[in-house]
Amino acid sequence: MPVSVPDCIFCKIVKRDAPASIVFEDETTMAFMDIRPMIPGHTLVIPKSHAAYLEDLPKGSSGPILETARKVAAALRRSGLRCEAVNLWLANGRAAGQEVFHVHFHVLPRFHGDGFGMRAGPDYGRMPERAELESTAEKIRHAIVNQ
Ligand code: 5GP
Ligand code: ZN
Repeated sequence: MPVSVPDCIFCKIVKRDAPASIVFEDETTMAFMDIRPMIPGHTLVIPKSHAAYLEDLPKGSSGPILETARKVAAALRRSGLRCEAVNLWLANGRAAGQEVFHVHFHVLPRFHGDGFGMRAGPDYGRMPERAELESTAEKIRHAIVNQ
């Protein structure tokens, strides 16, 4: 049985306690239409078990979510919807734009001229020295042990 949180809208969708237009589900994942699509075909892919953030997922359990996103991306290209390309987007934390605190990938059909864009911060474009990249990498390498 998936872990469920009573006041989580996506857990309610998993339990069929809230409506959703479901396009796919398997034992551990579900894909359904976003209620406020940024573009026709905008689909959300979730783990059925509640986790607020990506890193809260049990170790080794994230693979099937990407596999379902892969299926949805392939389906969007075959669906007849306008879809020349696909973006995956995952907002992980409030500062990253997360509003629903149950892990989800946005699977977004894209086409030339669709008006989408990703705005980078003011630091974008700078190419740091290798030493700075190495120093940053070392901090992450150090922190990645046993995750
Ligand atoms: P976030 O900003 O957390 O990455 O995205 C949350 C997404 O969930 C938004 O795109 C929003 O439209 C969608 N959403 C919020 N409530 C519901 C709901 O009740 N049903 C569905 N299908 N999508 C929802
Ligand atoms: Zn949930």
